[in-house]
Formats: sequence, structure tokens, C-alpha cells
Amino acid sequence: MKKKIAIIGAGIAGLTLANLIKKKSEYDFMLYEKQDSLSLEEGYGIQLSTNSVKILNDIGFNEINDEKIFHPKGLNFYNIQNKKICDLDLSQFNSDTTKYTTLQRSTLIEFLKDDVYTQHLRFGKSIKEVSELKGKVFIKFEDNTNDLVDIVVGADGIFSNTRSFFESKKNEPKFKKAIAVRTMLNSKSELNIDDEKINLMMGKNCHIVIYPVNKKKELNFVCIIRNNKYEPDNIKSLVDKVISQNSNLEKILNGELKSWPLYSTSKILPSSNSKVFYIGDAFNGFLPTLAQGAGQSIESAYELFNLISEDKSDIQNTYYQERSKRVKIVRKRSNLNFFAFHLSSSIMQTIRNFFIKFFVKRKTFVNSYLGTIYKN
Ligand SMILES: Cc1cc2nc3c(=O)[nH]c(=O)nc-3n(C[C@H](O)[C@H](O)[C@H](O)COP(=O)(O)OP(=O)(O)OC[C@H]3O[C@@H](n4cnc5c(N)ncnc54)[C@H](O)[C@@H]3O)c2cc1C
Repeated sequence: MKKKIAIIGAGIAGLTLANLIKKKSEYDFMLYEKQDSLSLEEGYGIQLSTNSVKILNDIGFNEINDEKIFHPKGLNFYNIQNKKICDLDLSQFNSDTTKYTTLQRSTLIEFLKDDVYTQHLRFGKSIKEVSELKGKVFIKFEDNTNDLVDIVVGADGIFSNTRSFFESKKNEPKFKKAIAVRTMLNSKSELNIDDEKINLMMGKNCHIVIYPVNKKKELNFVCIIRNNKYEPDNIKSLVDKVISQNSNLEKILNGELKSWPLYSTSKILPSSNSKVFYIGDAFNGFLPTLAQGAGQSIESAYELFNLISEDKSDIQNTYYQERSKRVKIVRKRSNLNFFAFHLSSSIMQTIRNFFIKFFVKRKTFVNSYLGTIYKN
């Protein structure tokens, strides 16, 4: 009998795994999503470094409409007053077929949903109860439907509810005392940035990232602001702290903005059930300061898929060991960037800028800081 896999959550991680199973194996599977549809409107930009593009190409991403994506050649560093510090060549990690890519999240979700939407995706599904039955996992959903499967994959994001059914140890995500606000720009506005690159502006307790998400060069604008509390009704006073550092940002930050608090997972915990796995943010949620959240969701799905396909005996342990190693590297770098991008003292900023300028031109450093992640 074919093995059956239940994937809980149709985000980037769950959809990637579903595509890999559908296109490259004989396993039976079903994706169970809590919402009534896939969130296609709220498409903030996503950066995909070459490690994840390589995996996506394996499931046909290289055939995506070229107009809907962009390949930024580099990253420009600025201070918050828009004075350029230096730049980093991102194309050094590209090959002919695998290039650093930016796009809207909705474009990626549209691509990932295509082959699994009709037959393998069920909406409005939340787990109500789980039990073991004849060596399999019996899942009962809130709407009184059920499924009997060999493997359960929790892909339900950083606040994973799947964990609460299978794990006694909690892995509460921590609010990182930072808020993200985002919008889309149709032009560079008053900013002196390069609309063919990723632009990073570093200010006091805040940083801004702007990059094109398609060939029309619509620009994704994200500003991360440090604050002890998240008050969605009081975003204005928060963005005023950024505008006070550069008045050219006023028009953008006084426009329509979406906001959300930033969380990350501090502990990496293994699954306590040999038939249950976690991928994407459900395994570990990162700060967005290395732009690896989606990339690691894709990687984790790929790693798990390969292990399941090979049908080895100690999949659980191998998956956990390999994933943890990777997560630790990415987490360290994301946390260091988070610290460095937001320095408030001007002396510290000057020292930081000196070091960034020095290091971005050192091939050995760039290869060890980014290459180890991008070349996986
Ligand atoms: C400001 C910001 C910028 C970012 N920028 C980047 C970037 O440039 N590059 C990058 O790589 N990453 C970026 N990320 C991170 C990235 O978006 C996430 O890490 C990634 O989307 C996680 O994917 P996931 O599938 O694990 O989880 P999610 O995207 O959270 O998907 C989980 C899915 O599970 C569903 N679900 C939840 N609970 C249940 C349940 N109980 N039952 C069934 N279904 C459920 C949800 O509805 C959802 O569809 C950014 C994040 C932030 C906050």
C-alpha cells in the first residue's frame, strides 16, 4: 500500500512539500489548510536566494512568467539619510539557471498551488483530535471529517497548532520587540535608491528594505522598527520616529501601510513522535533580517521529502540533526544583522559602516557569511 502523508498548513513550506510529493513520488497526500482560501492578496515581497531557487527549479519554477519576477544584481547599503555606504554583488552566487530572485509572495503561492489545488488541498480544516490506530495516525478535524495517515507534517507556521497535539514541551515564539510595516511603491519616490537592486537603509532603531518584485519594477517597501509593544492602532507614532530621521520618507510612511509584530522561536525542539515532522516556521521561525524565512521553509520541505523518499530507518533523527545545524547558522546571522542594522549610537554606526565596507569586498568573508547559506 502507498504511504499516506497529511500536511497541515498550506503556506510556502506545506505547498513546496506537496509539489515535491506530487511531481517526484508515488506517495498519497493531502494538504489541510485552516483558512477558507489561500491568502493571495496580502503579497508582501519575498527574496529567494539561490539555495531555495535551485529546489524550486526542480518543480518547474524556471518556467514561471519572467515578467512576474526580478533578479536583483546586488545589495546597496545606505544610512537612513540615503547616503550610500557600499554595495554587495549578489550575482556572484548565481549560475545560468539559478539566480537570486525577488517576487511577490502571492506570485510564489500561485505557482505552488497550481498542481495541487484541485485534488490535494482541503480548506477550513483544523485538527480537533489525534490518536494512534494500527501503527498509523488518526486525525479528526473540527468539521468531523477524518484521515488515517502514515506521516503527519506540521507546516502551520510559527504558532504551530499541530505541535500542541503531539508535543508536551511548548515552543512559544518570542515577540522580538520589533514591528514590520510594509507597502508597495510604484516608483522610487523621493528616494535616491537603485530600483534594480535590493536597497537597505539603516537608521536609529529601524531599517528599511526596498526592492523590485517584477519587471515592472514595482517596489516592495518594508520597514522594521524596534518598539517594546505592538499597538496596531498606533502605527503612526511609530513611523514618525523613522520620518524624523529622513523627511523624504514622509509620503511613503503616511500612505497605506500594513503592519505586524515580529516573532522568532528561541528553542529548536525535536518531534517526540516518529511519525510527525515539522517544516518551515513550524520547525523554527527566524527574524527577517537575513531574508531566509521562505528559503528555509523550502529547504526544510526538500530535506524531509528526500528522507521520506529514501525510506531510511532513522528519518526523524537525521532530519532533526541536519535541520538544526542549518537553523543555527541562519539564526545566528539573522540575529547579528538584526542587531547591526538598528544601532542607535552614531559612533557605533560609524564603526559598523566601516566594517561593512571592509567586509563586503572580502570574498572569503562573503563566502563564509552568505555563501554557506546560498550555496547549500
Ligand atoms: C517582514 C517580513 C519579511 C519577510 N521577508 C522574507 C524574505 O524576503 N525572504 C524570505 O525567505 N522570507 C521572508 N519572510 C519570512 C517568510 O515569509 C516565512 O518564514 C514563511 O512564509 C514561512 O512559511 P511557512 O509555510 O512555514 O508558514 P506560513 O507562511 O505561516 O504558513 C502556514 C500556513 O498554515 C496555515 N495554518 C495555521 N494554523 C493552522 C492550523 N491549525 N491548521 C491548518 N492550517 C493552519 C496558515 O493559514 C498558513 O496558510 C519574511 C517575514 C516577515 C515577517
